[in-house]
Amino acid sequence: MADQDEALKNCAGCKKAVVRAKRYYRNGKYYCNQNCWKKAKAAAGAQPAE
Ligand SMILES: [Zn+2]
Repeated sequence: MADQDEALKNCAGCKKAVVRAKRYYRNGKYYCNQNCWKKAKAAAGAQPAE
């Protein structure tokens, strides 16, 4: 059985579906573009570690 989820991932930044051809893969997560990656990275960096 092929994993159909491989073709479609959700952006870790804006949660929208990421088209396979356009997906932006960074640090084990998918983003729809570089902007979402930067945004998610900045948001994660802004969170104080508990
Ligand atoms: Zn996005």
